[in-house]
Amino acid sequence: MDGKGTRQKKAYQSGWVQQRTLKSSISCTGIGLHCGQRVSMTLHPAEPNSGIIFRRSDVVAKGALIPALWSHVVDTRLCTVIGNEDRVVVGTVEHLLAAFSGVGVDNVVVEIDGSEVPIMDGSAAPFVCLIEGAGLCEQDARRRIIRLRRKVQVQDGERVAVLYPTVHGFSVSCEILFPSLAVARQSSVVRMTPHAFCLEISRARTFGFLEEVMQLRASGLARGGSLENAIVISGDKVLNKEGLRFDDECVRHKILDAIGDLYLAGRPLNGRFHGYCSGHALNNKLLRALLSDHGAWREEDMTPADLTLSRRLQDGRSPAAASVSI
Ligand SMILES: [Zn+2]
Repeated sequence: MDGKGTRQKKAYQSGWVQQRTLKSSISCTGIGLHCGQRVSMTLHPAEPNSGIIFRRSDVVAKGALIPALWSHVVDTRLCTVIGNEDRVVVGTVEHLLAAFSGVGVDNVVVEIDGSEVPIMDGSAAPFVCLIEGAGLCEQDARRRIIRLRRKVQVQDGERVAVLYPTVHGFSVSCEILFPSLAVARQSSVVRMTPHAFCLEISRARTFGFLEEVMQLRASGLARGGSLENAIVISGDKVLNKEGLRFDDECVRHKILDAIGDLYLAGRPLNGRFHGYCSGHALNNKLLRALLSDHGAWREEDMTPADLTLSRRLQDGRSPAAASVSI
Protein backbone atom coordinates (compact mmCIF):
# COMPACT_ATOMS: atom_id res chain seq x y z
CA MET A 1 0.00 0.00 0.00
CA ASP A 2 1.33 3.44 -0.80
CA GLY A 3 1.42 6.42 1.57
CA LYS A 4 -1.66 8.01 0.08
CA GLY A 5 -3.67 4.82 0.56
CA THR A 6 -2.63 4.58 4.20
CA ARG A 7 -3.64 8.17 4.85
CA GLN A 8 -7.05 7.69 3.22
CA LYS A 9 -7.64 4.50 5.14
CA LYS A 10 -7.03 6.31 8.44
CA ALA A 11 -9.23 9.22 7.39
CA TYR A 12 -12.26 7.16 6.45
CA GLN A 13 -12.31 3.95 8.45
CA SER A 14 -14.22 5.40 11.42
CA GLY A 15 -17.75 6.76 11.54
CA TRP A 16 -19.27 4.04 9.41
CA VAL A 17 -22.70 3.68 11.03
CA GLN A 18 -23.40 7.33 11.89
CA GLN A 19 -24.38 9.85 9.22
CA ARG A 20 -21.61 12.22 8.22
CA THR A 21 -21.29 15.68 6.80
CA LEU A 22 -18.38 18.03 6.12
CA LYS A 23 -16.61 19.80 8.99
CA SER A 24 -16.49 23.04 7.01
CA SER A 25 -17.36 24.50 3.60
CA ILE A 26 -14.87 24.11 0.76
CA SER A 27 -14.79 25.41 -2.83
CA CYS A 28 -13.33 24.62 -6.22
CA THR A 29 -13.62 25.94 -9.75
CA GLY A 30 -13.45 24.17 -13.08
CA ILE A 31 -15.16 23.87 -16.43
CA GLY A 32 -18.29 21.98 -17.41
CA LEU A 33 -17.56 19.10 -19.79
CA HIS A 34 -20.50 19.83 -22.07
CA CYS A 35 -21.22 23.55 -21.56
CA GLY A 36 -17.51 24.47 -21.60
CA GLN A 37 -18.16 27.27 -19.09
CA ARG A 38 -16.23 28.03 -15.94
CA VAL A 39 -18.18 27.15 -12.81
CA SER A 40 -17.55 27.61 -9.09
CA MET A 41 -18.76 25.01 -6.65
CA THR A 42 -18.87 25.10 -2.85
CA LEU A 43 -19.68 22.10 -0.67
CA HIS A 44 -21.40 23.05 2.60
CA PRO A 45 -22.15 21.00 5.74
CA ALA A 46 -25.85 20.01 6.02
CA GLU A 47 -28.30 18.82 8.68
CA PRO A 48 -28.75 15.10 9.47
CA ASN A 49 -31.27 13.33 7.19
CA SER A 50 -31.19 16.14 4.63
CA GLY A 51 -29.25 14.13 2.01
CA ILE A 52 -27.39 15.67 -0.93
CA ILE A 53 -29.01 18.87 -2.23
CA PHE A 54 -27.79 21.03 -5.12
CA ARG A 55 -28.38 24.78 -4.97
CA ARG A 56 -27.92 26.93 -8.08
CA SER A 57 -26.50 30.22 -6.76
CA ASP A 58 -27.03 31.85 -10.18
CA VAL A 59 -30.79 31.18 -10.01
CA VAL A 60 -32.81 33.47 -7.77
CA ALA A 61 -35.77 32.51 -5.54
CA LYS A 62 -37.00 29.12 -4.43
CA GLY A 63 -36.46 27.26 -7.68
CA ALA A 64 -32.75 27.01 -6.99
CA LEU A 65 -32.87 23.74 -5.00
CA ILE A 66 -32.53 20.31 -6.64
CA PRO A 67 -32.43 17.17 -4.46
CA ALA A 68 -29.98 14.51 -5.68
CA LEU A 69 -32.63 11.82 -6.06
CA TRP A 70 -33.47 9.21 -8.74
CA SER A 71 -36.92 10.75 -9.20
CA HIS A 72 -35.31 14.08 -10.21
CA VAL A 73 -33.25 12.64 -13.07
CA VAL A 74 -34.32 14.42 -16.27
CA ASP A 75 -31.67 13.35 -18.82
CA THR A 76 -29.21 10.46 -19.07
CA ARG A 77 -28.00 10.62 -22.66
CA LEU A 78 -24.43 11.88 -22.12
CA CYS A 79 -24.28 12.29 -18.36
CA THR A 80 -26.75 12.25 -15.47
CA VAL A 81 -28.77 15.48 -15.25
CA ILE A 82 -31.11 16.25 -12.35
CA GLY A 83 -33.75 18.97 -12.33
CA ASN A 84 -36.71 20.35 -10.41
CA GLU A 85 -40.28 21.41 -11.22
CA ASP A 86 -39.01 24.89 -12.23
CA ARG A 87 -36.82 23.23 -14.89
CA VAL A 88 -33.64 24.27 -13.14
CA VAL A 89 -31.03 21.57 -13.83
CA VAL A 90 -27.54 20.47 -12.87
CA GLY A 91 -25.65 18.05 -15.12
CA THR A 92 -22.70 15.65 -14.75
CA VAL A 93 -23.52 15.02 -11.10
CA GLU A 94 -22.33 11.38 -11.16
CA HIS A 95 -18.61 11.78 -10.38
CA LEU A 96 -19.25 14.08 -7.41
CA LEU A 97 -21.98 11.75 -6.12
CA ALA A 98 -19.59 8.80 -6.52
CA ALA A 99 -17.11 10.62 -4.25
CA PHE A 100 -19.83 11.22 -1.62
CA SER A 101 -20.94 7.60 -1.81
CA GLY A 102 -17.40 6.26 -1.93
CA VAL A 103 -16.05 7.98 1.17
CA GLY A 104 -19.36 7.99 3.06
CA VAL A 105 -20.81 11.51 3.06
CA ASP A 106 -24.55 11.58 3.75
CA ASN A 107 -25.53 15.23 3.98
CA VAL A 108 -24.18 18.11 1.88
CA VAL A 109 -25.45 21.24 0.16
CA VAL A 110 -23.67 21.64 -3.18
CA GLU A 111 -23.79 25.29 -4.19
CA ILE A 112 -22.96 25.85 -7.85
CA ASP A 113 -23.14 28.92 -10.13
CA GLY A 114 -23.80 27.08 -13.39
CA SER A 115 -25.70 24.17 -14.92
CA GLU A 116 -22.95 21.56 -14.74
CA VAL A 117 -20.62 20.16 -12.07
CA PRO A 118 -17.01 20.90 -13.08
CA ILE A 119 -15.39 17.94 -14.81
CA MET A 120 -11.99 18.49 -13.09
CA ASP A 121 -9.69 15.70 -14.38
CA GLY A 122 -12.60 13.48 -15.48
CA SER A 123 -12.47 11.30 -12.36
CA ALA A 124 -13.76 11.52 -8.77
CA ALA A 125 -10.29 11.93 -7.20
CA PRO A 126 -10.34 15.78 -7.08
CA PHE A 127 -13.69 15.61 -5.23
CA VAL A 128 -12.25 13.09 -2.76
CA CYS A 129 -9.37 15.56 -2.17
CA LEU A 130 -11.90 18.35 -1.66
CA ILE A 131 -13.82 16.28 0.91
CA GLU A 132 -10.53 15.40 2.63
CA GLY A 133 -9.69 19.10 2.72
CA ALA A 134 -12.97 19.99 4.43
CA GLY A 135 -12.82 16.99 6.79
CA LEU A 136 -15.74 14.84 7.89
CA CYS A 137 -17.73 14.81 11.11
CA GLU A 138 -20.19 12.33 12.51
CA GLN A 139 -23.76 13.46 13.13
CA ASP A 140 -26.31 12.50 15.73
CA ALA A 141 -28.27 10.17 13.43
CA ARG A 142 -27.72 6.59 12.31
CA ARG A 143 -27.07 5.95 8.60
CA ARG A 144 -30.09 4.37 6.95
CA ILE A 145 -29.47 1.88 4.17
CA ILE A 146 -31.62 0.34 1.46
CA ARG A 147 -31.36 -3.44 1.84
CA LEU A 148 -32.33 -5.52 -1.22
CA ARG A 149 -34.89 -8.26 -0.61
CA ARG A 150 -34.87 -9.75 -4.07
CA LYS A 151 -33.14 -9.47 -7.42
CA VAL A 152 -34.12 -6.54 -9.63
CA GLN A 153 -33.03 -6.45 -13.28
CA VAL A 154 -33.54 -4.11 -16.22
CA GLN A 155 -32.46 -4.54 -19.82
CA ASP A 156 -32.15 -2.60 -23.03
CA GLY A 157 -31.35 -5.02 -25.83
CA GLU A 158 -28.03 -6.65 -24.89
CA ARG A 159 -27.38 -4.13 -22.12
CA VAL A 160 -28.20 -5.32 -18.60
CA ALA A 161 -28.16 -3.78 -15.11
CA VAL A 162 -29.03 -5.93 -12.11
CA LEU A 163 -29.00 -5.70 -8.32
CA TYR A 164 -28.80 -8.86 -6.18
CA PRO A 165 -29.43 -9.07 -2.42
CA THR A 166 -26.40 -9.72 -0.18
CA VAL A 167 -26.00 -10.26 3.54
CA HIS A 168 -23.88 -7.15 4.12
CA GLY A 169 -22.24 -4.41 2.13
CA PHE A 170 -22.33 -3.07 -1.42
CA SER A 171 -20.31 -4.35 -4.35
CA VAL A 172 -20.23 -3.18 -7.93
CA SER A 173 -19.06 -5.07 -11.02
CA CYS A 174 -19.17 -4.03 -14.66
CA GLU A 175 -18.29 -5.56 -18.00
CA ILE A 176 -17.81 -3.49 -21.15
CA LEU A 177 -17.14 -4.38 -24.76
CA PHE A 178 -15.91 -1.92 -27.40
CA PRO A 179 -14.65 -2.58 -30.94
CA SER A 180 -11.25 -1.01 -30.19
CA LEU A 181 -8.13 -2.80 -28.93
CA ALA A 182 -7.59 0.13 -26.55
CA VAL A 183 -10.64 -1.08 -24.60
CA ALA A 184 -11.90 -4.42 -26.04
CA ARG A 185 -13.54 -6.51 -23.32
CA GLN A 186 -12.92 -5.39 -19.73
CA SER A 187 -14.51 -6.46 -16.48
CA SER A 188 -13.82 -5.47 -12.91
CA VAL A 189 -15.38 -5.63 -9.49
CA VAL A 190 -15.06 -3.64 -6.28
CA ARG A 191 -16.32 -4.48 -2.83
CA MET A 192 -17.18 -0.99 -1.65
CA THR A 193 -15.35 0.44 1.30
CA PRO A 194 -14.02 3.99 1.45
CA HIS A 195 -10.50 2.60 1.21
CA ALA A 196 -11.26 0.43 -1.84
CA PHE A 197 -13.11 3.27 -3.56
CA CYS A 198 -10.25 5.73 -3.10
CA LEU A 199 -7.55 3.29 -4.16
CA GLU A 200 -9.20 1.30 -6.96
CA ILE A 201 -11.92 3.47 -8.48
CA SER A 202 -11.78 7.20 -7.67
CA ARG A 203 -8.89 8.01 -10.09
CA ALA A 204 -10.43 6.34 -13.16
CA ARG A 205 -11.23 9.00 -15.79
CA THR A 206 -14.10 9.30 -18.19
CA PHE A 207 -13.35 8.18 -21.75
CA GLY A 208 -14.55 8.81 -25.26
CA PHE A 209 -13.74 8.04 -28.88
CA LEU A 210 -12.31 10.85 -31.01
CA GLU A 211 -14.95 10.41 -33.72
CA GLU A 212 -17.75 10.73 -31.14
CA VAL A 213 -16.09 13.74 -29.51
CA MET A 214 -15.94 15.48 -32.92
CA GLN A 215 -19.65 14.73 -33.49
CA LEU A 216 -20.58 16.04 -30.03
CA ARG A 217 -18.55 19.20 -30.63
CA ALA A 218 -20.38 19.73 -33.94
CA SER A 219 -23.68 19.58 -31.99
CA GLY A 220 -22.43 22.12 -29.43
CA LEU A 221 -21.65 19.53 -26.73
CA ALA A 222 -18.40 18.33 -25.10
CA ARG A 223 -17.18 21.94 -25.43
CA GLY A 224 -15.10 21.60 -22.27
CA GLY A 225 -13.70 18.17 -23.18
CA SER A 226 -9.95 17.81 -23.66
CA LEU A 227 -7.06 15.45 -23.01
CA GLU A 228 -6.84 17.18 -19.60
CA ASN A 229 -10.16 15.74 -18.45
CA ALA A 230 -10.83 12.59 -20.46
CA ILE A 231 -9.18 9.56 -21.99
CA VAL A 232 -9.56 10.04 -25.74
CA ILE A 233 -9.30 6.97 -27.98
CA SER A 234 -8.80 7.01 -31.73
CA GLY A 235 -9.05 3.63 -33.44
CA ASP A 236 -6.97 1.30 -31.27
CA LYS A 237 -4.86 4.04 -29.68
CA VAL A 238 -5.09 6.13 -26.50
CA LEU A 239 -4.20 9.71 -27.49
CA ASN A 240 -3.29 10.93 -23.99
CA LYS A 241 0.50 11.28 -23.75
CA GLU A 242 0.55 10.19 -20.12
CA GLY A 243 -1.26 6.94 -21.00
CA LEU A 244 -3.69 5.19 -18.70
CA ARG A 245 -3.81 5.25 -14.90
CA PHE A 246 -4.89 1.56 -14.86
CA ASP A 247 -4.79 -1.02 -17.67
CA ASP A 248 -8.55 -1.36 -17.25
CA GLU A 249 -9.25 2.30 -16.46
CA CYS A 250 -12.33 2.40 -18.73
CA VAL A 251 -14.27 -0.29 -16.89
CA ARG A 252 -13.19 1.16 -13.55
CA HIS A 253 -14.73 4.45 -14.69
CA LYS A 254 -17.95 2.59 -15.57
CA ILE A 255 -17.98 1.33 -11.99
CA LEU A 256 -17.39 4.90 -10.75
CA ASP A 257 -20.36 6.11 -12.83
CA ALA A 258 -22.58 3.33 -11.47
CA ILE A 259 -21.61 4.17 -7.87
CA GLY A 260 -22.52 7.83 -8.47
CA ASP A 261 -25.78 7.07 -10.29
CA LEU A 262 -26.86 4.57 -7.63
CA TYR A 263 -26.29 7.13 -4.84
CA LEU A 264 -29.35 8.87 -6.30
CA ALA A 265 -31.27 6.25 -4.28
CA GLY A 266 -30.86 8.89 -1.55
CA ARG A 267 -28.98 6.59 0.82
CA PRO A 268 -26.42 3.77 0.65
CA LEU A 269 -27.46 0.50 -0.97
CA ASN A 270 -26.87 -2.94 0.46
CA GLY A 271 -26.58 -5.37 -2.43
CA ARG A 272 -24.51 -6.43 -5.43
CA PHE A 273 -24.73 -4.46 -8.67
CA HIS A 274 -23.66 -5.86 -12.03
CA GLY A 275 -23.76 -3.95 -15.29
CA TYR A 276 -23.15 -5.40 -18.73
CA CYS A 277 -22.52 -2.55 -21.22
CA SER A 278 -24.73 -0.43 -18.98
CA GLY A 279 -24.71 3.35 -18.61
CA HIS A 280 -26.52 6.28 -17.01
CA ALA A 281 -29.90 5.51 -18.61
CA LEU A 282 -29.95 1.89 -17.46
CA ASN A 283 -28.61 2.79 -14.01
CA ASN A 284 -31.54 5.18 -13.52
CA LYS A 285 -34.01 2.68 -14.97
CA LEU A 286 -32.75 0.14 -12.41
CA LEU A 287 -33.24 2.55 -9.50
CA ARG A 288 -36.76 3.36 -10.72
CA ALA A 289 -37.58 -0.36 -10.99
CA LEU A 290 -36.18 -1.04 -7.52
CA LEU A 291 -37.62 1.88 -5.59
CA SER A 292 -41.10 1.73 -7.12
CA ASP A 293 -41.37 -1.93 -6.02
CA HIS A 294 -41.76 -1.80 -2.24
CA GLY A 295 -41.48 -5.57 -1.92
CA ALA A 296 -37.95 -5.51 -3.38
CA TRP A 297 -36.24 -3.56 -0.57
CA ARG A 298 -36.51 -2.30 2.95
CA GLU A 299 -34.93 0.63 4.72
CA GLU A 300 -32.90 -0.14 7.84
CA ASP A 301 -30.33 1.37 10.18
CA MET A 302 -26.79 0.45 9.20
CA THR A 303 -25.75 -2.20 11.72
CA PRO A 304 -22.57 -2.94 13.68
CA ALA A 305 -22.34 -6.12 11.55
CA ASP A 306 -21.84 -3.93 8.49
CA LEU A 307 -19.16 -2.05 10.39
CA THR A 308 -17.32 -5.22 11.43
CA LEU A 309 -17.34 -6.65 7.93
CA SER A 310 -16.20 -3.42 6.35
CA ARG A 311 -13.29 -3.03 8.73
CA ARG A 312 -12.24 -6.66 8.30
CA LEU A 313 -12.16 -6.19 4.55
CA GLN A 314 -10.27 -2.93 4.78
CA ASP A 315 -7.65 -4.43 7.06
CA GLY A 316 -6.96 -7.76 5.49
CA ARG A 317 -7.96 -8.48 1.95
CA SER A 318 -7.95 -6.91 -1.44
CA PRO A 319 -11.32 -5.42 -2.37
CA ALA A 320 -11.50 -7.40 -5.61
CA ALA A 321 -10.83 -10.73 -3.92
CA ALA A 322 -13.28 -9.94 -1.14
CA SER A 323 -16.09 -9.09 -3.51
CA VAL A 324 -15.87 -12.42 -5.27
CA SER A 325 -15.91 -14.55 -2.15
CA ILE A 326 -18.79 -12.88 -0.27
ZN1 LIG B 1 -18.39 9.28 -15.91
